[in-house]
Order: sequence, then C-alpha cells, then structure tokens
Amino acid sequence: MTWKRVALDLLFPPKCVFCQKLMERGEICPDCEKKLRAMEQPKNRTLPGGTFCVSALPYEDIVRESILRFKFEGRDFYAAVYGESMARTAALELADRFDLVTWVPVSKRRKRERGYDQAELLAKEVCRLWGAEPVRTLEKKRDNPAQSGLTSAEERRANVLGVYEAVNREQLTGKRVLLVDDILTTGSTASEAARVLRFAGALDVMVLTLAAAEQKGN
Ligand SMILES: [Zn+2]
Repeated sequence: MTWKRVALDLLFPPKCVFCQKLMERGEICPDCEKKLRAMEQPKNRTLPGGTFCVSALPYEDIVRESILRFKFEGRDFYAAVYGESMARTAALELADRFDLVTWVPVSKRRKRERGYDQAELLAKEVCRLWGAEPVRTLEKKRDNPAQSGLTSAEERRANVLGVYEAVNREQLTGKRVLLVDDILTTGSTASEAARVLRFAGALDVMVLTLAAAEQKGN
C-alpha cells in the first residue's frame, strides 16, 4: 500500500464505487459488478454536426449516483474503475479509428476548486490501460452556467458556444481525435468541443463518454 492509498482509506474507507457497501478490498462489490456488466452496453449516437459518439454506461441508477460522487464529492479515484469500462467500450466500437486521445476540460478555476478535472482523469485512465498519454488540446476559457440547469437544446447549444479554445494545435493537425468526456446529455458540449478541434486542424473527432443520459423528446 502506498501512503496515498492509506490516506485515501482514512478519508474514504474502501467502499463499492457504485453502491457504497463497505469492502475489504477492491472497488466494486460482486453485486454491482454483475449489474454493471449487464448495463455496460455501448451506446452509439451521431450528434448534430456529424460527430460520432460512444458511451459505456447509461446515466441512471447506481451509475448516476456514483458519477455524482466522482464529480462533486472528491471521489477522484473512481476514475480508475470507470476507465476500464470506457477502454472496453472504445476497443469494441472505436479500435483503430483514432490517433490521439484528449478530453473536454473544465476551466482552470473549476479545476482549482474541485482539485481535479474529471474528464482529464478519465482520459488518463483510458490511456493508461493502452500504455499511452492523453494530450491537452482544449482550454475552457470561461465558466458558463451549468448545462444541467438548461432544458432546451437551443439554450444548451448557445450556452457552450465559444467557451472552448484549441491549444497545442500543432499536435492536432491531420489527426483523428478521440475526445473523452464524463456524461453525454444532449451532446451540445461534445459537439462544440469537436467543432473547435476540427476548426483547429483535426482530421476527425470521435467522442467517448463514461455515461449517456437517455434522450428525451427532440
Ligand atoms: Zn456495489
């Protein structure tokens, strides 16, 4: 055990990442493992603008509760468990279709407040399993109001317009990019980030998210 692991165990006694049952070791209890394997079915979607999108899990039930703790309650170490599910999904759906992995970032201010950028952690975990490193290609220039507070697709599109800027452009030119994010809802955020990457020279952009919310209406 590393000291970091020991410190984490004191802060967060080992519990199942999904149902929070206390466990001696490991990160998923056998019940959730079974449940997740049944839930883990890659969902494909093509977003307006043509971006192909794959998600590992449905954003519901124990997955939703777990992701909320990951994002808002300091459980950054959940990324290791999620990364495996995402890597399996990508291997099934996107093998050999990209040259570079990147992520949809939070702003510097948000990262400072939260202590981590959740999509960056996911990208790192997915890459770790492939022996690679993600590349930062986007910066979030300003904090827009939360997408979750907006209901219409129009509002959500307008809310993210212009919030991302491409960085490390020289690494993007002619590349097929895999863009990692945590949750896909209407796809407005992913579409906008993909648009910025294409404009900066990416040949193609595909999106991989941990979870996808069911599409309502529209
Ligand atoms: Zn469990």
